Amino acid sequence: MQTGRDNGSLMKPGIHPDYHPVTVHCACGNNFQTRSTIKGNMLNVEICSSCHPFFTGKQKLIDTAGRVERFTKKYADAAAKAGATKK
Ligand SMILES: [Zn+2]
Repeated sequence: MQTGRDNGSLMKPGIHPDYHPVTVHCACGNNFQTRSTIKGNMLNVEICSSCHPFFTGKQKLIDTAGRVERFTKKYADAAAKAGATKK
């Protein structure tokens, strides 16, 4: 009788994600190996355990896209404009 348990294996082919080693490249330059189900064998991240302030104990501005700079510039412009109209 067919039980569905062929060869004593409970793993069904084709339904399990590919869990494989991947190399993670961090923006800080750190590379490390991990395992993931992502496609491909490389993963780029912006922060890792080597550069995260929680692990380094140092304060670090996480601003890879220049968001803070843009905000401060915008804020400065607005303040300048407000000051200019207040004659
Ligand atoms: Zn890092």
